[in-house]
Amino acid sequence: VTAMMWFRRDLRLGDNPALLDAVSAGDGRVLGVFVVDPLLWKRSGDRRREHLATSLRGLSEAMGGRLVVRSGDPATVIPALTHEVGAVSVHISADYAPYGQERDKEVEAALNCPLVATGSPYAIAPGRIVNQQDRPYQVFTPYFRAWLEHGWRQPVEAPQDVQWVKADSEALPEGAAAGEDAARQHWQAYLDDVAQYDDVRDRPDLDGTSRMSIPLKYGEIHPRTMLADLARRRSGGAESYRRELAWREFCADLLARNPQAAWKPLRSEFDKMAYDEPGDQLAAWQQGRTGYPFVDAGMRQLAASGFMHNRVRMVVASFLVKDLHVHWKYGARWFMQSLRDGDLASNSLNWQWVAGCGADASPYFRIFNPVGQGLKFDPDGEYVRRWIPELRDLNGKTAHEPWKYGGADGYPDPIVDHAEARREALRRYEAIKA
Ligand code: FAD
Repeated sequence: VTAMMWFRRDLRLGDNPALLDAVSAGDGRVLGVFVVDPLLWKRSGDRRREHLATSLRGLSEAMGGRLVVRSGDPATVIPALTHEVGAVSVHISADYAPYGQERDKEVEAALNCPLVATGSPYAIAPGRIVNQQDRPYQVFTPYFRAWLEHGWRQPVEAPQDVQWVKADSEALPEGAAAGEDAARQHWQAYLDDVAQYDDVRDRPDLDGTSRMSIPLKYGEIHPRTMLADLARRRSGGAESYRRELAWREFCADLLARNPQAAWKPLRSEFDKMAYDEPGDQLAAWQQGRTGYPFVDAGMRQLAASGFMHNRVRMVVASFLVKDLHVHWKYGARWFMQSLRDGDLASNSLNWQWVAGCGADASPYFRIFNPVGQGLKFDPDGEYVRRWIPELRDLNGKTAHEPWKYGGADGYPDPIVDHAEARREALRRYEAIKA
């Protein structure tokens, strides 16, 4: 017999319970397939496509070159492939994003054999954590407590002696191979620093966060594996890190329960919020030309590298919504196109958090000051100078306020006055509260 393992966002062999199920259903004979779905491919930005390509190469190498790649609608491709190889079952790790849920239902309906979902990209699957009234949590802290109490299974080893079944495959994209091994090595190296996480996590100049969002996005590592390593460490940093992993799961939980939250506010009063039409100001924000160095450095980091530090993500998001008065969905869309770790649940729910319309949102009236945030979290101006060459001649923290020090050649003046923009944001908020 042959079983099929359909890889999606779990591009690894280790700690992959769905793969273990496939191995036992196929008595060791497994066909591993990745389907390039034109719909998802079109929506991914270049950075994510690029990363996916390296990750697939890594996976295929780990499988002795036997990963099968096919393009098309999975509801056609997967059933056709099961006929081709006579598969007895198709194994997946469950996808909780809105599109993935619909797709999997369609595939299941089109199959002549069972579609078996085992595990998910989370330590605890979305929807599992409920309060004593069997209701979901709306607020993070009690969710986190219940999440810790619930616990998760131990990581499982990669299966030995899999006989990977051959089938025609499209060529894998050219390029370097990365993936599971690289992700594990990166994580092991980072673990040596995790005790310092609290001291450095908010400082984009120090760049001391783990950057594990990228391998987590593609499932090159499972959070369970990381949680098991953290449990052996016992430090304040390790505790805080675990809390961040729970934020990722909280976002997924919220989106799985409220699929409309991808692009619509969770708090309905925000349906009435007045926003400006996106125009030149959105373009200035995207290009890192708002005249606020901390904002622009973040946007340029994003454009140049496909990554942005979390603190800066919060500040640029707040700036778009509360200084430029543009709806958060335009920012969220730009992030999804540009980020290497772009993940619908983490992205939309964090945007909603900043925009004040999320479940457990920061209150709308708490508006980040883009200069104050820069001075506090990039105290020597290192981060802004790194990403904005025009500011190189401004020493230390003066780089955060070039207009005070005679400006910087080629760098724009602020496109809005923050104090005024803030008052306007509060006026609009008062109007929806009334
Ligand atoms: P670390 O500080 O090392 O954190 C460890 C891990 O915890 C991260 O890899 C991530 O998996 C998780 N995590 C940390 N903070 C958050 C958070 N606020 N929400 C959810 N998970 C978190 N993260 C994404 O993975 N994809 C996105 O598309 C995304 N969009 C965001 C948009 C906005 C407006 C904001 C404010 C945050 C967004 N985040 C997103 C969350 C966070 O910024 C990134 O996960 C983090 O910056 C990744 O860097 P790191 O791995 O070095 O983080």
